[in-house]
Amino acid sequence: MATAYLNCRIKDSDDTAFLIEDHLITKTGSDEEIRSLLQEGDETVELNGMYVVPGFADTHMHLLGLGEYLSTLMLNHCTGSEEVLELTRKALPSLKEGQWLRGRGYHDNLQIDKASLDAISTDVPIVLTRACGHVACANSKALELAGITEDTEAEEGDIDYANGIIKENALRLLKKAWKEPDEETLKEYIRKGAEYCNAHGITAVGSDDFVSFTSSYKPALKAFEHLAMENGMNLRVSEQCEFHDPEEFSRFLDEGYTAGVGSDAFVIGPLKLILDGSLGARTAALTMPYSDDPDSCGILIYDDEEVETFFRLAQSYNMPVISHAIGDAALDQILDVYEQNMYEGNPLHNGLVHCQIMRKDQLEKILKLNLSCYIQTLFIDYDAGILEERVGERAKYSYPFATLYRNVPTANGSDAPVELPDPLKGIELAVTRKSLTSGRTMNASEAMTVKEALDSYTDRAYELLGMENCGKIREGCFADFAVLSADPEETEPEKIHEIPVMMTVMDGRTVYER
Ligand SMILES: [Zn+2]
Repeated sequence: MATAYLNCRIKDSDDTAFLIEDHLITKTGSDEEIRSLLQEGDETVELNGMYVVPGFADTHMHLLGLGEYLSTLMLNHCTGSEEVLELTRKALPSLKEGQWLRGRGYHDNLQIDKASLDAISTDVPIVLTRACGHVACANSKALELAGITEDTEAEEGDIDYANGIIKENALRLLKKAWKEPDEETLKEYIRKGAEYCNAHGITAVGSDDFVSFTSSYKPALKAFEHLAMENGMNLRVSEQCEFHDPEEFSRFLDEGYTAGVGSDAFVIGPLKLILDGSLGARTAALTMPYSDDPDSCGILIYDDEEVETFFRLAQSYNMPVISHAIGDAALDQILDVYEQNMYEGNPLHNGLVHCQIMRKDQLEKILKLNLSCYIQTLFIDYDAGILEERVGERAKYSYPFATLYRNVPTANGSDAPVELPDPLKGIELAVTRKSLTSGRTMNASEAMTVKEALDSYTDRAYELLGMENCGKIREGCFADFAVLSADPEETEPEKIHEIPVMMTVMDGRTVYER
């Protein structure tokens, strides 16, 4: 049975209709052409002139983290510390015996500490993680269960025991203490995350999940593999593989995994390295101190040698490396490694995730090395309000998204659950560079056009993810698309985020309908 979608406008095409059969687009053309192909039992969907785009691809997120976030206490809308504490207090009675109270998403300028969480409970372990995911606050019970005392030292992290503030790799001590989710729970997180994505027109993601909750890469890997085998994936996932150390990565390679292994629904993507923290938490690694904290230059997670070991190992298996680098010190570290070890022209598509605080010489080097850039224009919403305070003059060459987009392979994403995935909002922010919350503008000269921003979530995004036969409404491509009520190019830029997604189809199945 085939389904004809009629009377629509299609991105990058003059056609007004298309036909899908099973999981493929089999024909595009005029309404009359497509109608003439219909046989008994075929279906038609009248789109009333609406705008069809290839399913959006979010090139960097944490799908398990998103699913978990949607299942626990969400604090992203809180504007004050009192609101965070009130929501936490209200969540207490719904917990099961022995369960930890975990929340995420409060913003970095809010002051939450151990004492304020102890005032809620000293019997139930409570951990609230900031929006960025690089810092959490724990109450006394949580610290006790995690074995964290005044004397605990954390490598590549930081523990402020008195205030219960835990940063970067020290967070692993907390994660070890709470019960690891079983496979059913992990699958539920994947489904929940996918459902959220589908409602925003997304049909594919690059996702970093291996170290999210689990002590080894295996439980997350198996959950994805099994769900894909059971045909339970409503999103195509390219896994951005993160590991605790090079030894663990080596064991993964020994099992026969490398980039490209998998199926159309779940495939192994690049090695992912996290080199530093976040701007909001002041853990992004800078060469000079933070403008609003002269004692801090942030945190580098690895020493140079470890980064090189990871890189060489990946390269010897033809696996690209993508590196989370937010501060210029993290960029210095990885640009050196890339420059000294990469093949000419970067045929493996090694890259950078975030691309935020940088100097002019670093921007030039990124272009020269032809690095792939995984940007998040959604970050402008929050960061426009803090960038100058945090880094002063260094804001000038920071978040240079249009320059990157026009010179090297660059595509967009959300880093969910840091920001909730929302391509239309991401498109708007790429174009306006103006925060919807603070109203502040960031480097307007780096604004992208609407067409560029749309492509950064479609054509370009699929190129970056290495997913073939996706990202186009064209014969032979997967039937992955979203129907928007309006064409973003014909919408006032500051209203793009309000365009409703009416329908999302993935692999020929309607996975969302408004
Ligand atoms: Zn991330």
